[in-house]
Amino acid sequence: MTPRYALVALPLPLATPYTYRIPEALGDRIAPGCRVVVPVRRRELIGLIVEVDVDAPAAPPREILALPDSEPAVSSQLLATAQWIAGYYGAPLGLTLKSVLPGGMWGESQVMVSLDNGGRHLGGLAGEIADWLKQHGGEAAVSSMSRAFKRPVWDAVERLSRIDAVSLRVRAPDTDAARLTERTLSLLPERPTLIERDALFRRRPRQRELYEALESLGGSASVRHLSQQLGFGDGVVRALVKQGVARIGEAELVRDPFADSPATEPPAQLTPDQRAAVSVIETLEPGRSALLFGVTGSGKTLVYLEAVRRVLAQGGGAIVLVPEIGLTPQTVSRFRGAFGNEIAVLHSGLSDGERADAWRLLRRGERRVAVGARSAVFAPVARLGLIVIDEEHEASYKNGETPRYHTRDVASVRARLEGARLVLGSATPSLETLASTEQQLRLIRLPERIGARPLPPVDLIDLRTAPKVPDTGPLAWSTALDEAIVATLARREQALLLLNRRGFAAFLQCPDCGEVWQCPRCTISLTVHQAPAALRCHYCMHEEPLPFTCRVCANPVQQMRGVGTQQLERLLIERYPKARVARMDLDTTSTKWSHQRILGGVEQGTIDILIGTQMIAKGLDFPNVTLVGVVDADTGLYLPDFRSAERTFQLLAQVAGRAGRGPKGGRVLVQTRHPLHHALAHAAHHDTERFLGTERQLRDVPPYPPAVSLVNLIYSGPAERDVGRSAAALADWCAGLVAKYQLPVTVLGPAPCPLARIKERWRWHVLLKGPSDSLGRIVRYAARRLKREGKIRLVIDRDPVSLL
Ligand code: ADP
Ligand code: ZN
Repeated sequence: MTPRYALVALPLPLATPYTYRIPEALGDRIAPGCRVVVPVRRRELIGLIVEVDVDAPAAPPREILALPDSEPAVSSQLLATAQWIAGYYGAPLGLTLKSVLPGGMWGESQVMVSLDNGGRHLGGLAGEIADWLKQHGGEAAVSSMSRAFKRPVWDAVERLSRIDAVSLRVRAPDTDAARLTERTLSLLPERPTLIERDALFRRRPRQRELYEALESLGGSASVRHLSQQLGFGDGVVRALVKQGVARIGEAELVRDPFADSPATEPPAQLTPDQRAAVSVIETLEPGRSALLFGVTGSGKTLVYLEAVRRVLAQGGGAIVLVPEIGLTPQTVSRFRGAFGNEIAVLHSGLSDGERADAWRLLRRGERRVAVGARSAVFAPVARLGLIVIDEEHEASYKNGETPRYHTRDVASVRARLEGARLVLGSATPSLETLASTEQQLRLIRLPERIGARPLPPVDLIDLRTAPKVPDTGPLAWSTALDEAIVATLARREQALLLLNRRGFAAFLQCPDCGEVWQCPRCTISLTVHQAPAALRCHYCMHEEPLPFTCRVCANPVQQMRGVGTQQLERLLIERYPKARVARMDLDTTSTKWSHQRILGGVEQGTIDILIGTQMIAKGLDFPNVTLVGVVDADTGLYLPDFRSAERTFQLLAQVAGRAGRGPKGGRVLVQTRHPLHHALAHAAHHDTERFLGTERQLRDVPPYPPAVSLVNLIYSGPAERDVGRSAAALADWCAGLVAKYQLPVTVLGPAPCPLARIKERWRWHVLLKGPSDSLGRIVRYAARRLKREGKIRLVIDRDPVSLL
């Protein structure tokens, strides 16, 4: 028989797949999309068959070792989707497939060898292996044998297996997450006041830090988290218990936080607008897309539910994508309410094994609806009929590492390949999506809130002139916002306060010499944190103690600039002592289900004021929230990024949409120093269309998406001069291509990135502007340059969402 060969993609940054010989025994079962175990240097890895019966390579290839599954793990359409991603974004196919298949399915060294016929005398390495196996219980992993013998043992093992001296078996990757309970530390319900705390914790700063860390974590945290993530040892934990303010408990580790979350019953009747929207979706041609452009509270979720229900009724399946699963518990519980056990929720808290389980259920059609963030776009839903992307404008739909895909575009390709329909939903669609409604995208509008409830009035408070509450330190606190909070509390209603800057203060500056504390590894000022007290870099997690004196002029007094959420929390506790305040930002939500705990508190009315970063702006539907305050609307307005106005508008519109969702109505107060900026002025009138119109014009000169497409080529490395030199060579090379093929492309740069250094790596970029197909040609060529040049790395970011 003539030997046969297959191309195998490996989860490694390799430019091309490797070729392997197909063993005769596996010949009739090997097909594209199958997982196989192959030898790679001195290891055995799981790879995916990309193509069978390819030409023989120049060098004699190694043989495929095993085929663990009875059928392909990746369908032909998903494989084609991955191939599109690799081509379009200039990413290695193996790394792309790595994000398609869940982590638990890429095991290493899963091949076990067991001794069958030890009686025979064998010479050489084969004999040594047989003896070794005899001494080690008769079975071992090939990898541990390789380690024991300090050299590859595969060839010998194969010889042994051919003469039936041993048999090989592929062990499934480890799928259980063992620990089911863990120790927790919780604060007791009677919390000391700030003054009592000063007495209680005098000369015990570490205990106070722990106390306040717990408080900001919602009152309770696992002891393991406190020690591993926050560095609080057993001693201080025990001391806090001895003080009588906290206790140790045991909590069951939550496997699926949504499993017992209330499954919300959907409203019985669709409104006429919703019904019309559903029928437009139903009559879309297979493979086509629509934008559901509906104001906040217009009932988009029910439209998705109904569209999914109809797909299920016809025997199909669906994927529902949300920006971040932890932030959208209400959406998830509505889906669970409607479809119960048909749903697989793919959230980030799943272990590899659990994720692989969910994946298999979907693949076999035992679950038919996948709900999840970005990566759920690859869920192996059988007979896929519909993909929904809620809040399609969210930046989190862009993958931040190779392959740098945009979920929206991947979904559109996958929908076309599988004949499914794609629905994008948003109250504030991105300019790109809106632009494509002129061509391939159907536009569906939901112009009104449910029950014709008005959108809440939005008042801009001009911080330059508005009367302010005295003595609030660096925080500008207008009397208007102050009075609104007092009135809301008096009515026993709830308030959300948005401040999109976490930490205590944005940075530390010496008032005498102006020195600003910067991260030694990044060109970023360090953020002041109070609980625990430290200067911390939000990019690389570098941490250092708060200094007492200026390192330049030795001046003892440091000034904190730019109020963060931690400081806001302090000020609120002091100013409204009776209010129950909670904070939701990256620092308080580092444990698995902390979002749920905090949001549950708002839902049950045990929290009066919730402050938070952009996390609190999304998808929440709390009827008793009647006041939304934006503490500083200008935090993101002047970032050096072409999307800063768009992001600011979206954030304001989304957070404003959280107010007045119940019969009590509501209002929104926005503190700003730029009330005339178009993002603020149009947000104040809920005028998304006007904002998009104005912003679209600003994207013409100089051109930015959607007027042109972009590719950002970023070089990074430890030595700035080398990085700059590589970037300059790259820019010349791009300009050469543009001239040679006469492409309508502008090459900008090289220039340092706005964030010029991150994690000790200097960053320079070259920005290409032009029509997408021309840029695609350059990306194809550039992908071949992806090889590392010493310590310098090139990243290709096609259709970037941020240029920082
Ligand atoms: P959006 O996602 O557009 O912001 P939601 O889907 O959250 O809006 O709906 C807003 C509120 O209106 C929710 O409380 C929802 O239960 C309610 N709702 C939606 N559709 C209907 C309907 N047809 N009848 C009654 N209430 C509805
Ligand atoms: Zn840093």
